[in-house]
Amino acid sequence: MKIENPNPITWHFADRAAAMQSSFIREILKVTQRPDIISFAGGLPSADTFPVEKMKSAFDKVLTESGRVALQYGPTDGFPPLREWIANSLSTEGCTIAPEQVLMTSGSQQALDLIGKVLIDEGSRVLVETPSYLGALQAFSVYRPEFASVATDEHGLVPSSIDAVVEGARMLYALPNFQNPTGRSLSVERRQELVETCARHNLPLIEDDPYGALSYKGEPYPKMLNMNPDGVIYMGSFSKVLTPGIRLGYVVAPLPLVRRLELAKQAADLHTSQLTQMVVHEVIKDGFLQEHIPTIRNLYAKQCQAMLDAMKEHFPSNVSWTKPEGGMFIWVQLPKHIDAMKLLDQALAAKVAFVPGAPFYANKPEMNTLRLSFVTVSPARIQEGIAILGKLIAAFK
Ligand code: PMP
Repeated sequence: MKIENPNPITWHFADRAAAMQSSFIREILKVTQRPDIISFAGGLPSADTFPVEKMKSAFDKVLTESGRVALQYGPTDGFPPLREWIANSLSTEGCTIAPEQVLMTSGSQQALDLIGKVLIDEGSRVLVETPSYLGALQAFSVYRPEFASVATDEHGLVPSSIDAVVEGARMLYALPNFQNPTGRSLSVERRQELVETCARHNLPLIEDDPYGALSYKGEPYPKMLNMNPDGVIYMGSFSKVLTPGIRLGYVVAPLPLVRRLELAKQAADLHTSQLTQMVVHEVIKDGFLQEHIPTIRNLYAKQCQAMLDAMKEHFPSNVSWTKPEGGMFIWVQLPKHIDAMKLLDQALAAKVAFVPGAPFYANKPEMNTLRLSFVTVSPARIQEGIAILGKLIAAFK
């Protein structure tokens, strides 16, 4: 018997669902996955760096030796040996992180959602950098905050500008290392000032750090977590140092908050895949990342230099850009009259893609900005794509 349904589009969605928007980048990616397009748009790590064989043998070992545990439900907070490994890796001489402070998540993207769920009420003020990670704006938006932008300059977030917008704020979301989208990093002095300012205002400081290990010189900046473990919520990820497909990240927070995040996670998905966590622990437990990460850094440093060289050669002199010391992104400032959204239409017609900067702003977008990723395109194609972009920028009316 066929059931007649009333037209489902007349169903009443929750207000929060009506306000949801697709990430602009995910929309662009649908177009740019075509092989004929030179895409600087993705935030994807280079698949050439994925340790496929290592993962394969770890899956095999875990399933052979502990298959029944790996395939069973697991604890919400995560696989204990992996949490211990993470706590050890984040501890410094003066600052010990306890494994109990670590909550494993399904990618650090889930940590953003859980943080939003636990800290944001409708209308709560949330402080973000200008520009900031689009995926965080999207995750927090579901809880309908009021975003207030903290000023940034060419050195990143300006801690002294927090005082002006901090009234009633629930948290500050910051990306101190090789920021997505700008590629900028905060100096040690600014980190200290930021930590102190947030502590003075009793403001939770979220340190989102998926790129910290990808410093081209191999010298990571100190973490704000270690400067004030009672005031910082730290987020890490295996996506950029191992593979994003395994969806494994973590959040480290003071105990009362981490317990709340754990409850939120319990309601969301019970726990992160036990099999994945055991495999990742098997892969990294004997120091694999120490040999693997330098290969990623070296590749990205080379790719970055190829793009910087090409930009110097092909971009008009009224264009400026950041010179990252790590990570995956370069941020471009075009002359004021160029709207990067319109430039994108022309670029796509010429088979080159990038992400316009506007979606990275919580408020008042600067339309003459764009983000370029250099990690998944060969140096020859980088040269070709940047030359095309340079011509389009010079000719833009
Ligand atoms: N934070 C930032 C700044 C990112 O760039 C990303 C991924 N692009 C994430 C969080 C989420 O990463 P994942 O969920 O893969 O750990």
